[in-house]
Amino acid sequence: RRVSGPEEQRLMELLSYGLVAMGAGSAVLLRFIRMPYGRYSSRRFGWLLPARPAWALQELPSLLVPIGLAACGGAVTADWPNRILLGCFVVHYVQRALIFPLLIREGKPTPFFTFVLALLFCVYNGYLQGRSLSNYAKYPSGWLKDPRFITGFIGWLIGMAVNIHSDHILRNLRKPGETGYKIPRGGMFEYVSGANFFGEILEWFGFALACCTIESLAFALCTLFILGSRAKQHHQWYLEKFEDYPKNRKIVIPFVY
Ligand code: NDP
Repeated sequence: RRVSGPEEQRLMELLSYGLVAMGAGSAVLLRFIRMPYGRYSSRRFGWLLPARPAWALQELPSLLVPIGLAACGGAVTADWPNRILLGCFVVHYVQRALIFPLLIREGKPTPFFTFVLALLFCVYNGYLQGRSLSNYAKYPSGWLKDPRFITGFIGWLIGMAVNIHSDHILRNLRKPGETGYKIPRGGMFEYVSGANFFGEILEWFGFALACCTIESLAFALCTLFILGSRAKQHHQWYLEKFEDYPKNRKIVIPFVY
């Protein structure tokens, strides 16, 4: 029997709570272990996969699942706010799944366990955001002129620009063939150690404001928990590793945390 209508909406609400719980649970766990990829990559978490194909494959469901759901013709897919919001999600994952992996320079391999977790996350969240925006999120006429949509959309756009710019700065710290780490400088790195994570957090909170759905809010909170923890680990790592690390730099939220 196919779940649809109010039953599916209830299921998606529960899955949204699940997403927040997953993020909060990860934040607690990550107080004790370092997120096992990139500089903390380790064989203890399974075979090591090359960074580029691992990133592309694990992120691809967040691109394909919403496109597939929208193509199947959900009840509200054709409405303009839904099209634009789905477009925001898809644009992010075109960059993350197709462009970002090609740009990686000498990235550390990804353990199999981390790859599988990221892949499952992208299926789960791709379904939640894609189904909500193609079938259930209904907006009043004039939503595109509503301050919540406009502010959220601008937040999404600025967040994505900060995320891409900061990843660009990190990538260019290494000369071809280098694999070590340096102190990132410039852009939002002057304010926070996790500038790329700050951009991504801002992006998804902006998206949540523009969508005003429980699914998008759950994703933003989950991102805050997970990337906030990763930023904290990086911040501590930099302080241990570099004596001359800028002392005024915050962890992930400029001037605040
Ligand atoms: P990191 O900042 O850990 O690494 C990004 C890249 O830059 C890696 O290739 C890394 O190399 C390199 N790098 C990082 N710091 C330095 C440095 N100091 N010197 C030289 N090279 C450096 O980011 P993540 O890999 O965790 O994430 C990548 C992107 O994915 C980010 O934009 C993030 O926002 C996004 N992301 C989103 C998630 C979500 O829940 N929405 C979850 C996870 C990531 P190396 O691999 O060798 O460490």
